[in-house]
This record gives sequence, structure tokens and C-alpha cells, in this order.
Amino acid sequence: MKYRLLAAVAALAIASSARSAPVLAPPPELGPDVQPFVHIPAGRIAIQHLRIIDGTGAAPIEDATLLIDAAKIGAVLPAGAALPAGYRTLDGTGETAMPGIVGMHNHMFYIARPNLDASGHFEDPLVVPQMTFSAPRLYLANGVTTMRTTGSVEPYADLNVKIEIDKGRLIGPHMDVTGPYLEGANSPFIQMHQLRDAEDARRTVAFWADQGVTSFKAYMNITRAELKAAIDEAHRRHLKITGHLCSVTYPEAAQLGIDDLEHGFFVNTELDPGKQPDKCTSTVGTPTLVAMKPGSPEANALIKLLVDRHVAITSTLPVFEQSVGLHAPLNPRAMAVLTPEAREAYLYNRNRTAQRATTAQAQQFAQAFRNDLGLERQFAAAGGLLLAGPDPTGNGGVIPGFADQREIELLVEAGFTPAEAIRIATLNGATYLGLADRIGSIAAGKNADLFIVNGNPAANISDIEKVIVVFKDGVGYESAKLLDSVRGRYGQY
Ligand SMILES: [Zn+2]
Repeated sequence: MKYRLLAAVAALAIASSARSAPVLAPPPELGPDVQPFVHIPAGRIAIQHLRIIDGTGAAPIEDATLLIDAAKIGAVLPAGAALPAGYRTLDGTGETAMPGIVGMHNHMFYIARPNLDASGHFEDPLVVPQMTFSAPRLYLANGVTTMRTTGSVEPYADLNVKIEIDKGRLIGPHMDVTGPYLEGANSPFIQMHQLRDAEDARRTVAFWADQGVTSFKAYMNITRAELKAAIDEAHRRHLKITGHLCSVTYPEAAQLGIDDLEHGFFVNTELDPGKQPDKCTSTVGTPTLVAMKPGSPEANALIKLLVDRHVAITSTLPVFEQSVGLHAPLNPRAMAVLTPEAREAYLYNRNRTAQRATTAQAQQFAQAFRNDLGLERQFAAAGGLLLAGPDPTGNGGVIPGFADQREIELLVEAGFTPAEAIRIATLNGATYLGLADRIGSIAAGKNADLFIVNGNPAANISDIEKVIVVFKDGVGYESAKLLDSVRGRYGQY
């Protein structure tokens, strides 16, 4: 009896100390810094003659009427259905609605390479300025209505910006704030804490869960013992943990109980030559991916293990595409939001990659890229939960929001249909977050988190870039105005 009482008290203590704010907050009162971006105020809105890609992977619904009732989706009416009274009507002819993107690898920072020159040389240390001003606007402008920060460098800044967005004082998407990178010894990032041991990993997770973060991410130099302690503490608090791994292989992490693995199949080191337990390899997974052809016995065994253990995989193709010479298009609308310095750094990098495209190393990486596309398809076909995110980390070709759209285009390049690719970037993310009953698809009763583009992404996936308006909790924000407000700013703040 006494034990039971103590256990109950302990449970209460955990419940009251866990200050985790929910990812989806109630609709806010919109403050003076948010109001100027409102294009369609909340209300009873009927958008007629609209094509709807609902996020489930189903074929588009043509000539539908979308009813929005304040913060919720009221109904999707088929062509010719009678319009109920009391709605403000808008004409969606030639336009397509999709669920808001649920970005699952969406940072709030830029990585600066001090004194970078045209040869690619830069000086240590790498520094990571926060993009707390520009990133939330870029995400929302490009259709991202919910995002995971997937590793925070300034977790207090990310937590506070989430709180301000939820209150309607700042503009941006709903946020799942990830704790600081759970990194081991010998990190190149001077702003990261380096875990000392398993107990330090447990304490770090406990502290940041108490501060309100809602997810965790293990990083490249973590040990198996530290990862195990972090997983156990996160799970004790009903929080999920992902990893961008290197020192720990994918099979090891799956056995330890990790929930998600970042970067598709790019950073698994299980077949890297000279792999030592708990040590990252200098090749950081490329030899493993080159060796792991889709459908090979090694690939089949790994994918079976991941699916059996319910480990999700986050596809982050835009950041890897940048290492394949001239694979990424140069998008003038995206270039316009970079600072001149960030644009110059990107163009240096892009030119060097293009010049080296015929080297053996570049060809090997191009093979790795092709293998990854096939493995992501195989993983999804085997029943694995594939998630999507861009990983914007200071490569000027991978910009918040723009690169979330590019990720969907690259999933189509991998062989998914446009409707499947959109599902991976919307409903699958919502499913992972445990929010699929509220967001991730366009259905009556769900939150009105969706965006409308010109054209038909089901026929031409790049139409996903032609965003007109982004609804979050039933309020329609003007994409162009948001982008204009961060012109020339990404890379600075
Ligand atoms: Zn990342």
C-alpha cells in the first residue's frame, strides 16, 4: 500500500514537472505582428471549383467545394452539391488544396562557415546563427503548418518562439520542439554539449523535457550506452526520440528502441570499413549505402528489422541532392531570400560540386543517392513509416519551406506518385506525431491547416511551389507577403 502511494506521488510529480506544451495549440488571438499577413480571416468560407489532394494518397477530387468553419474543416462537398447558406464564397478554379506540410526535419538555424573562400576553405569553428526571424515565416509561406525542429542549437529560442507563435504574437507553423542535440565527444559543433556518460544523457533528456521540449534527437558521436539511457528517459515521459547517427549503426539503434532515423539510409555505418563500436567512421555511411543495393539480402534484413521494430525513417533528400553535381535546380525565388553572403557561399559550393561531378568520389556519391531512393521506396512498400523533411543547415540550396516542397518533388523522382509523396510529407508526419486525428489530411472535422496552389501537383509536382495562401487554424496567410518580409534575410537572422 505504501509503495503504491509512493508510486502515485512519483507519477504526479512527473506529470506536473512535464511542462511540454502540446504541438497543436488552440487557435490564437492574432497580434499586430501577425495581422498584416492575413489574407483570408477566419470565418465560414466556401472555396468552390477546387481540386483537392487530401493527403491520404487517394486520387485528387475534382471540382470540389471546401468548407472551412472557423478553425476546422467543415466538409468537402462533391461537384454540384448545394452550398449551405452563410458562407463567404471564393472561386478556386485552376487551384489545388493540399494538407499543410508536416515537416519532420526542419531546423531553425543556419550553419555559417567563417571566411569561406571559393576553394571551399573555411576556418574553425563552425558557428550556427539562429534563423528565429526568417525560418518560421519561410516555412509557413511555403505550406508547412507543423514542423519538428529535429535538433535545437538554441533550445530556449526554439521553445520561446513556439510559445510566441502559439499565442499569436509571432507568425509561423505549429512546432514540435526537439531538445538540444544529444551529441557525444569530439563534436565539430562548438555550441553543442558533449555528453559525458549515460547518466549525463538521462539527466539532459529529463532537464529538457521539464523545460517543455516535445522530442529528442541523438547525434553522430553518441555511444550506445548514452543512446539507450536517452531513449529510456524519453519513453518514460512518453516522448519520441530520433537520431542522425554514425557511431551507432541503424540495427543497433533499432534494437535499442529508437523511434525514428534521420537522413533516409545515408548515415547507416554498419558496412563501413573499419567500423569500431561506439565510434563514428570518417566515411559516415557512404560505403554502407553504396554496398546496400535495394533488394539485396543486406537491405532486406535491415528493412525487416526497422519495420518489425516500428522505426520510422525520415527522408531528407534535398540536402543530399546538393552533393550530386547540378542535380538541384537553381530556384530564383528561393535565392531571393538569402543574404548576399549566403548566396555567395551557396554558389561557391554549387560550382565546386559541379566541377567535381566526374571524379570517382562524386560518382560513388551519385550511386549512393540512387540506392537511397530505391531503399526509401522499398522501406515504404514493406510497410515502414516514411517521413519527410529538408534539413536546412546552411547549404543555401536547402532553404526552409522551399526545400520542404523540393523534398516532395524528389520523392516523386524516387518513384512515388505525387499523391503518395504528398501523403509522406503530410499524413505520415501527423501519424508519427500522434496527431493524425487532427492534422495531416483534408477531412471534415480536422483542423483547417492546409494550403492552396495554382495548378495541379498531381499532374505536375512542381506546381506545389506555386503557393497562394496557407491556412493555419482556419486563418489564410498570404504566401507572397510572408516571403517578401524575409527577402535577403535568410543567413542573417
Ligand atoms: Zn539536421
